[in-house]
Amino acid sequence: MKKILLILVLLGGGIINTNAQSAQDKVPHRVQTCPKIGSERTEIILPQVNGYNIYKGDFHTHSMYSDARISPKGRVMEAWSDGLDILAITDHYEARENEKNLLKVLAKYSEDGKPKKSLSAAPYSKPKDGSDPGVMADFNAIHQEAVSENRWAGYNLLLIKGCEFGRNTNDKGHFNALFVKDLNTLYSYNLEDSFRKVREQGGIVIHNHPSYKRPKGSTDKSEWDKMVYGEGLIKGVEVANGYNFYPRMVRRCIEEKLAMFGNTDEHRFTTYRFGSRNVFRTMTLVFAKECTEEAIKKAILDCRTLVYSGGCVIGEEQLLSDFLNASIHCQQVNENKKKGVRTYTLTNMTSFPYRLRQGKTIHELEPFETITISFGKDKNSGEMLPPKFRVENMWHIDYKHPNIEIEIDKK
Ligand SMILES: [Zn+2]
Ligand SMILES: [Zn+2]
Repeated sequence: MKKILLILVLLGGGIINTNAQSAQDKVPHRVQTCPKIGSERTEIILPQVNGYNIYKGDFHTHSMYSDARISPKGRVMEAWSDGLDILAITDHYEARENEKNLLKVLAKYSEDGKPKKSLSAAPYSKPKDGSDPGVMADFNAIHQEAVSENRWAGYNLLLIKGCEFGRNTNDKGHFNALFVKDLNTLYSYNLEDSFRKVREQGGIVIHNHPSYKRPKGSTDKSEWDKMVYGEGLIKGVEVANGYNFYPRMVRRCIEEKLAMFGNTDEHRFTTYRFGSRNVFRTMTLVFAKECTEEAIKKAILDCRTLVYSGGCVIGEEQLLSDFLNASIHCQQVNENKKKGVRTYTLTNMTSFPYRLRQGKTIHELEPFETITISFGKDKNSGEMLPPKFRVENMWHIDYKHPNIEIEIDKK
């Protein structure tokens, strides 16, 4: 009896095993947990203004070839994904601190097996023997790496060749060279001579984070600044660097006809700094006919730029007004003649939000949203008030919000 039971159990086991096997055969080896998406880009929708398109650029970023966390390829992918049209990777000319780690990793390749001291690509001070070692790195190769990635991935970004000069003395600071042809021949002990070389190459120099390394964080011009600005060597200023806004620079840019820039100066990842706060990365909005090096440089020299930082737009008052009017469609939808009240709809056709103050009320006009607002009569004149707002997330000269009237029923 026991034997029969044992046989039945074994047979049963066999059947179970066979069933398990056939069930297993039906299980796929690999499936996708969500639909496969190769790449994603955030499109930032902005209007055409005065016949110009608005191109979104970051003219100041770093790669692992100086002191940042990611490669030029990574910066290009990131810029495309963040919705930019223009990118400059502007590695430090003098400082390449990541090299120390690279030399440690590659120590076995050196003759004595010990890590070598890291090199400064361009010396901070003149060697005692008076010799000029020039630049000991191929800075053009950094740009070339970005160019290949851009081409390979088909991103079609406009990549601007540039670098950041930084002599950390209290009267100088940091400056970006942009639109240059050969980065390797720009070096000079005297920073102003480097600026002249940039100019000879058809490039421009902009003043970065203008309070940096200055006494008490002041943005006032040093004697050295007065000299380089006075010679016309500076063509633009970072009014915003990351989340830092330098309100006094708006007046400087307007008075001295310099372009306003807003750049990230990114050393890490933009999602880490900006995405987590639900704002776009800091950017320069360039008003140009087309996204070519020539057209973008011309727009900069003509000061056709606004700055976006942390949800705010900064710039010259008239351009801010033109930008807001192109961004918002305003229609009169009702008029109560008895009460003397007109009602309008405001439709935000852009990816930027606008904070519009009407007296004590603030209207939050979110991207691609329509709100309804009413205006009555002016108490003194008895005239109907136009839809005019103090725009609380815009800044113009002297740290002030602009008051902007919105055109009604424009085509
Ligand atoms: Zn800097
Ligand atoms: Zn920098």
